[in-house]
Amino acid sequence: MNILVVGGAGYIGSHMVKRLRQSGFNPIVADDLSSGRRAAVQNAELHVGDIDDAAFVDQVLRTCQPAAVMHFASSIQVGESVADPAKYYRNNVTATQVLLDGMRAHGVARFIFSSTAAIFGDPAYVPIDEAHPKQPINPYGRSKWMVEQMLEDYDHAYGLKSVCLRYFNAAGADPDGELGECHEPETHLLPLILQAAAGRRPHITIYGDDYATPDGTCVRDYIHIEDLCDAHLLALQQLLAGGGSARYNLGNGNGFSVREVITAAQRVTGREIPVVVGERRAGDPPSLVADSHRARAELGWQPRFANLDTIVAHAWAWERKHAHWPT
Ligand code: UDP
Repeated sequence: MNILVVGGAGYIGSHMVKRLRQSGFNPIVADDLSSGRRAAVQNAELHVGDIDDAAFVDQVLRTCQPAAVMHFASSIQVGESVADPAKYYRNNVTATQVLLDGMRAHGVARFIFSSTAAIFGDPAYVPIDEAHPKQPINPYGRSKWMVEQMLEDYDHAYGLKSVCLRYFNAAGADPDGELGECHEPETHLLPLILQAAAGRRPHITIYGDDYATPDGTCVRDYIHIEDLCDAHLLALQQLLAGGGSARYNLGNGNGFSVREVITAAQRVTGREIPVVVGERRAGDPPSLVADSHRARAELGWQPRFANLDTIVAHAWAWERKHAHWPT
């Protein structure tokens, strides 16, 4: 069974391609390679192009006739979204609509969407469940929430069934060491800490230590990439079995502060990691922790790598082995 993985050359998409293959599906990748890596697409056909190009979408859907589409391709940096919102509305909203309209034209009616905790904005309460108010505070979060709303309307009007998975902080790497995180430029906490541990950066900068949290640094819910892939697979199976549209928050329900992640990295790597305390980063809520009871109850999802040290250890193995994908 063919599954189209849009953004399958990126961090989460490439892990998903491997998981789909292992689970007996035939993943087919569409990626513009603007941030994804060709080398990350292993054992899958790759179509290089942009999904805001309707002709490209049409050609890919015609050739691969997928049973479902998983959509990982988007711009993901909060700060950049504030500085250049046009890029975010174009890449995350407009392009997604072109993809969805292509799917309608080809009768593909199942869609899994990478959403984000950023749709909630500054939390009114934690842990954050699906009912939490959606008040995104930056164009990135707004672009994802717009797509979620679009998907509701597309289900109502056209019967397109979707599962939106709201990731908290995706982290870690393929336990086999074949795949891992490699953004350029890297902005995420754990890879930056590990690059400092490896001597590839002089230090890690903590973005503010005066938050109203136990140690003053921001608290996040780090979820292993393998556990995210499990949730996607379960969501896919649910849709293929005739399930309706659904939205799930995905995290472990455990919050770790920036300092706790640095301490875990020192423990796992056995290295001293130089730390500098810097200014707060604009748009960072003090604490984001998921309530994932719905995913557990409805999908039967159970995180396998909830332990922070395991997440760090897998990311560290990747950092030491690869450091960089070839571009
Ligand atoms: N962070 C930090 N230093 C860095 C990068 C990130 O202190 O060099 C903090 C950031 O303020 C946030 C947490 O680490 O509280 C996770 O940030 P990341 O960018 O990895 O993910 P986000 O929470 O933005 O999705």
